[in-house]
Amino acid sequence: MFSFIAGIEKIGGNGAKAYQCASCGGLITHSDQLLAVEGKNRHFHVNPAGVECDFHTFLSCPGAIAAGEATEDHTWFPGYGWRMAFCKTCGQHLGWHYEALSTIRHPRRFWGILVPNVRAVYETTPTK
Ligand SMILES: [Zn+2]
Repeated sequence: MFSFIAGIEKIGGNGAKAYQCASCGGLITHSDQLLAVEGKNRHFHVNPAGVECDFHTFLSCPGAIAAGEATEDHTWFPGYGWRMAFCKTCGQHLGWHYEALSTIRHPRRFWGILVPNVRAVYETTPTK
């Protein structure tokens, strides 16, 4: 088990954590999916409605689904359109899914998941 945790730390840098939906407890993603976008994996923005948005960026979120049409309106990541992201299990809004508008952008897509909308749970046993 120790080697498993050590392996994750090399990737995530802050220990192995599972991120669960704060509403239903469903597994959303894992700390090994944290992705640095514009140099960091935690972002803070205020949306046009004045709501403070504190979120992590992940490469993959198996427990989330993106819905609706992609839009560039008020995007916080130039070159990326976004759609709303919801919990696959209960439908709770979790954040956004970003997709590159041109093929030269990297990463091509990622997720922005609001910190208050998930619970970070330290893992004690391997999940894979
Ligand atoms: Zn949920």
